[in-house]
Formats: sequence, structure tokens, C-alpha cells
Amino acid sequence: MLQIGPAGTSKLVWLAFAVCWGVIRYRYARRARRNREIEEQDRSYEILLLTLSFAGYAGIPVLYLATSWLSFGDYPFQPILFLAGIAASAGSLWLFWRSHADLGRNFSIKLVIREQHALVTTGVYRLIRHPMYASALLWSLGQAFLLPNWMTGLAGLLGFCVLYFGRVRREETLMLKTFGDDYREYMMHTRRLVPYIY
Ligand code: SAH
Repeated sequence: MLQIGPAGTSKLVWLAFAVCWGVIRYRYARRARRNREIEEQDRSYEILLLTLSFAGYAGIPVLYLATSWLSFGDYPFQPILFLAGIAASAGSLWLFWRSHADLGRNFSIKLVIREQHALVTTGVYRLIRHPMYASALLWSLGQAFLLPNWMTGLAGLLGFCVLYFGRVRREETLMLKTFGDDYREYMMHTRRLVPYIY
């Protein structure tokens, strides 16, 4: 029988979470497409951000799983990190699912205003303005803990930083331009990523 060992199990768990992530994204992105895009911000810059972040979240992990090129960054499997990785990834997936469900047809992968764009301030958007980016941060931690390699851990965190810091101010400026005082008011009683803290 095939023996995969604890590190192999950890990789398989990461892969299973990644498949669930893909299913959620596919399902909701498809639905949102029915709400036509009417304004798109900085297309080339957005594609650059998404490509870099995709490299950190998918490209490097796949390279790590499929080749031995990154083996210089391996560290030994540790049960405590494995459990922390499961907790972070499960939390990330839950938040990812809820933010997609709450944002509904207003969602887009790029910075976009849709034809019938409504400002969402309920559900997971009640306390934080960027739950989907918070889920990306949790995902980076899950990736760092479940794939026992420094390079894949670092790549996920960089992927998050590129996406978050490259976008958050521009996104809030666009929301302010589109929703004016409603978004200003919303900003007054919400934080960006961590309820009541940041
Ligand atoms: N930053 C949010 C949304 C990410 S999806 C989060 O992390 O959960 C990106 C798209 O969502 C952007 O194109 C923007 O138009 C839209 N958006 C962001 N916040 C929104 C809100 N509160 N209500 C409606 N649309 C929003």
C-alpha cells in the first residue's frame, strides 16, 4: 500500500482545502457575471497584482508539490503546525464563503463597479470592510503551516501583501466615489481586517 507519511498528509489536506476554495470562487464568480461591469479601474495594474498574488498562492505551492526545486526550504513536519494550519485554512474557507455569499453579485476579482452595484454592510461586512482579504491573510497562514517549507510560506504571505497593500486604498477610494456618504458612514464604524482592532 502507498505510504504517504505525515508531511504528505499535510500536503494532501492543503490540496483538499485548495479544491474547496476553487469550487466556492467558481460558483460565485459565475453568478456575479450576470451583473454587467460598467467601470473598471487600472486594468493592467490589477492584472499585475493578481498575477503576482496568484504566483504566491498557487504557482509556488504547485512548484513545491510537483518538483524538488524548493526542497532547500523544507522544515520537519510538526503536529502543532499541522493543527494550526487546519484551523487557519478552515477559518479562511468559512470567511471566504461567507464574504462571497454576502457580497453576492457585487463581487469581482478585479476592481470593478457593476451595473446594479449595491453597497454591502451586513453579514461578515458588518464589522470589517475587507473580509475576503482577511480570509486571504488566514489562507497565507494556513499555507505556511500546512506546507512544511519556508519558501511556500513566504510566497503566500507575499501574495497577500501584494494584493492587499496594492489594492486596499484604491478600492476604498472607488467605494467613496461611488457610494459617497454611505461609505464614509460605513467606514466610521468598521475596521479593515480585524474587528475593533485594525
Ligand atoms: N474588499 C472586499 C471585496 C473584495 S471583492 C473584501 O475583502 O471583502 C472586490 C470588489 O468588491 C471590488 O471590485 C468592489 O467593487 C467590491 N466591493 C468592495 N467592498 C464592497 C462593499 N462593501 N459593497 C459592495 N461592493 C464592494
